[in-house]
Amino acid sequence: MLFDLTARDGCILIMKAEQLEYFRTLFNQKIDDLLREAGKTVSGMTGTTESFPDLTDRAAQESDRDFELRIRDRERKLIKKMMEALERIDNGTFGICSCGKKISEKRLMARPVTTLCIDCKKRQEELEKQRGE
Ligand SMILES: [Zn+2]
Repeated sequence: MLFDLTARDGCILIMKAEQLEYFRTLFNQKIDDLLREAGKTVSGMTGTTESFPDLTDRAAQESDRDFELRIRDRERKLIKKMMEALERIDNGTFGICSCGKKISEKRLMARPVTTLCIDCKKRQEELEKQRGE
């Protein structure tokens, strides 16, 4: 068998093969989209590094670039998360929380890259709140 489809607490199907394929396609498409967008950003940035005599223009240009770099940083993180999710699909742990519980389908549809079930997520948020984050 390719995947271990049984939960620890019983013989429940974690994910059907077609559901895994759905998420695999979803991640691949999104990664493609993000890379295409990132490519646009990079090409939009080239050729504008030199000769900006007007200081105001130059400042505006530099803050634009900061903004673009931030976006790209966020995209890069998202791509990484989706790559990891693809790995989990491959090794059969996709849709299973680190506590061993199944992550609800509804939650996965809303946030496919999540690695935490709703209980663990709540616990994490409470801890973050306690730390004042
Ligand atoms: Zn959990």
